[in-house]
Amino acid sequence: MLMKMDKFDPEEIIEEFEALTKDSERVQRETLEKILNENGGTEYLQKWGLNGRTDAESFKACVPLVTHKDLEPYIQRIANGGDGSSILTGKPITTISLSSGTTQGKPKFVPFNDELVESTVQIYKTSFAFRSREFPIGNGKSLQFIYSSKQFKTKGGLAAGTATTNCFSNSQYKDMMMAILSPCCSPDEVIYGGNFQQSLYCHLLCGLLFRDEVQIVSSTFAHSIIGSFKTFEQVWEELCTDIRDGVLSTRVTDQSIRTAMSRLLKPNPELADKIYKICSGLSNWYGLIPELFPNAKYVYGIMTGSMEPYLKKLRHYAGELPLLAADYGASEGWIGSNVNPKLPPELVTFAVLPNIGYYEFIPLSEFVDGFMEPKPVGLTEVKVGEEYEIIVTNFAGFYRYRLGDVVKVMGFHNSTPELQFVCRRNLLFNINIDKNTEKDLQLAVEAGSNLLAEEKLEVVDFTSLVDLSTDPGHYVIFWEVSGEASEEVLKECCDCMDRSFIDAGYVSSRKVNTIGALELRVVRRGTFHKILDHYVELGAAVSQFKTPRFVGPSNGRVLQILGNNVVKSYFSTAFN
Ligand code: AMP
Repeated sequence: MLMKMDKFDPEEIIEEFEALTKDSERVQRETLEKILNENGGTEYLQKWGLNGRTDAESFKACVPLVTHKDLEPYIQRIANGGDGSSILTGKPITTISLSSGTTQGKPKFVPFNDELVESTVQIYKTSFAFRSREFPIGNGKSLQFIYSSKQFKTKGGLAAGTATTNCFSNSQYKDMMMAILSPCCSPDEVIYGGNFQQSLYCHLLCGLLFRDEVQIVSSTFAHSIIGSFKTFEQVWEELCTDIRDGVLSTRVTDQSIRTAMSRLLKPNPELADKIYKICSGLSNWYGLIPELFPNAKYVYGIMTGSMEPYLKKLRHYAGELPLLAADYGASEGWIGSNVNPKLPPELVTFAVLPNIGYYEFIPLSEFVDGFMEPKPVGLTEVKVGEEYEIIVTNFAGFYRYRLGDVVKVMGFHNSTPELQFVCRRNLLFNINIDKNTEKDLQLAVEAGSNLLAEEKLEVVDFTSLVDLSTDPGHYVIFWEVSGEASEEVLKECCDCMDRSFIDAGYVSSRKVNTIGALELRVVRRGTFHKILDHYVELGAAVSQFKTPRFVGPSNGRVLQILGNNVVKSYFSTAFN
């Protein structure tokens, strides 16, 4: 273990990062050159007539901006076996990733290669180095709520799984994760077990067995940490029984998990009593994480963007423990590292690593979708305070790819920008002249849910849709609430959300009733869990899951789950 840690000298990594970011413009130029040199002979780049040129001007003049839809036919051919030609990358692609697809309704295929693993390692190493300056960890373990998704073969025989799963099967990646997050408490069988509920139960059990050694509690996305401790609230007595008797609960039926767990479990009544006492003594589970894991230094995972609504609950479980937000990237490629780990998640920014891709930015202030040709600027040309849509060119077969995210430039680290994640670019709602984004919805839900706090309740999760079956059409917001809220308060919450959308198009349309009254539909407890299960069945990994904040007509099954579980519905009277 120590040897592995030694491989990463934080100061050395920071020095490398400083050198790279001091000269971002040159590094960007060289990175583009390298990408185009390695991949210039591909069918895709040849098609655009680059003819071996590797400079930014020719690249931008020849190669168009694209979305995933434009690349789908190429990726599909790769997945089908690739006809032996280099389609998107010089080196053949042997693995396909499934992105979470929670915004589109179904997982998308994206190419996966060793270069992506390398950039993952670089991003993680960088943020780890900065983290270890502020929050050093010693020898110990980490409780990681991670799950490998089902892997399968594409028609052409390529291995396919989520990016997280594909990374797990790479030994370079595994060594690095061991070094930076400390070894996981759970054996591989638990991570790779095919049943999410059984794996989760065992992650919790392993965490408790190694409770004094746990230094970090983490997951890819924050809501998975919350989901895990919500489950803990339900099963803690059973966990105590297992520890007391040294026998795993019969709820775990997967034989490989049972065998692996039996190697760890020995009757330990003393530990069972301790945990029992802790759980019985806690008020409303506040500070559960540090109580269970007295030597934990921090809670770690992606906490920005669509994870922000879960922060309140996470803080509740974490008590005084710091919450450290993880890095920013996508299955298609990485963007930036959190090099200011002390910042609270709400203020976290990501410093772009200029050598893992070539980045362009479409200024949103100048750009009206569909009316104007977007004019992207380079990495070092962005302006502080401005919002941009991010475009990625990297070693994994993406050239001028619109990732679909909006970021805001908050400052610079040397000459590389520090980006705050704002939201996905897709507008969520569009009935009339309104233009509301995921962020607008999040803010409205936050405002509405504050009223629930008075009743000591909270919004467990939420999503939305546009209902055009009424005339005029209206927005519908679905809430799962942690308990029984009074009719009166829910009505107020509904009005408050309707008033909280600040987009001028929405407000004016509401005033003249070209958009109907906002509707709040409250769903049964556990509804969002059913939605998660549905995505897992489609092949998404629990660790990569993000609740879709908007459900479109193409997402029939989710609409059905929501529809079947509505218990109450309210219409806003805010604009009456
Ligand atoms: P996936 O499609 O599953 O690969 O998810 C990638 C998307 O997740 C990105 O395009 C972002 O929208 C979101 N995402 C990833 N990392 C972060 C982060 N640190 N903060 C906010 N959103 C993120």
